[in-house]
Amino acid sequence: MINLRDLTLEKMEQLVVSLGQPKFRAKQVFEWIYKGKTDFREMTNLPEVFRHILSERAYIGTVKPIAIQKSKTDGTRKYLFELEDGNTIESVFMKYKFGNSICVSSQAGCRMGCRFCASTRNGLERQLSPGEILSQIMAAEKDTGEKIGHIVVMGTGEPFDNYDNLKDFIKIVNHPKGLNIGMRNITVSTCGLVPVIEKFGEDFPQVNLAISLHGTTNEIRSSMMPVNNKYPLETLIPACRRYTEKTGRRITFEYTMVSGVNDSDDDAKRLSKMLKGMLSHVNIIPLNKVKESGFDTVSRKRAAEFAEMLTAHGITATVRRELGADIDAACGQLRLGQNTK
Ligand code: SAH
Repeated sequence: MINLRDLTLEKMEQLVVSLGQPKFRAKQVFEWIYKGKTDFREMTNLPEVFRHILSERAYIGTVKPIAIQKSKTDGTRKYLFELEDGNTIESVFMKYKFGNSICVSSQAGCRMGCRFCASTRNGLERQLSPGEILSQIMAAEKDTGEKIGHIVVMGTGEPFDNYDNLKDFIKIVNHPKGLNIGMRNITVSTCGLVPVIEKFGEDFPQVNLAISLHGTTNEIRSSMMPVNNKYPLETLIPACRRYTEKTGRRITFEYTMVSGVNDSDDDAKRLSKMLKGMLSHVNIIPLNKVKESGFDTVSRKRAAEFAEMLTAHGITATVRRELGADIDAACGQLRLGQNTK
């Protein structure tokens, strides 16, 4: 059985034609799906025979919220969703002045092994399909009754380790008859899989790119992120420069700050030097403490000082606003706490 939410309009057309139907029917089905219909019987402009054929071959997959944490202070909602095979994934709905945003997961688990991150603890369970990434948005819209206008692919998983599915996901959410979310309202965050950075710049020059940097020397970065052994800074940073030069888009560098590891004045100096002249923005995230990681967080004051040092060197930097501070389970911890698999 095919989950129709996995299909771009193009792939839907191929399916429809392969079922002996005229191509234009694909658009009709596509429209119904992104209007939220999950039952073919409600797709009233389709011939009965076609609805029957469809229902024998395909279905419209959803994700099921099994836990929702609601912040009392700022409207943030954290979801634990169950997939068809019982795997669970997390998403976070956030309210900003510019509109509603969601942080979605791209994989069940992760194999990148970042030492401070809860999502990678049990390794990679499996890839998420395009529809499973997308359904997180639709399920959150249904639960909140609100339209989501911005997407960050920063939940569990490494999106560039699931690139083909990420691509189809972006095409569907961006399509005017899909979720109709603009390319510039989508941000993808990677730990730095260099070959994919280049492809991404060619495929989606308008989608925002965020790079998890976290370290200013190979020694520091490798101690936090094993991926740095494969794609060290001398490979990663030039790839980022090429990306900004080719696309004319700035990169957001995420900098998760860990006490005594990457929070010194020297780190700020090295970081400024590294990014000098590049279209960039640094987003400092004080570490969310994960049990047994052995890493400690920094004060917001220290994070702010660090940001000021960068700014003084001509690098734009901000400290990430803390949303949903009254509901814990940040960064993959909800899944880790509840997943019994
Ligand atoms: N795999 C992608 C996206 C998922 S993580 C990536 O690495 O970019 C999103 C961001 O949260 C990354 O910058 C990641 O390093 C950071 N992060 C993960 N766990 C964290 C924690 N416990 N505290 C602070 N930031 C964390």
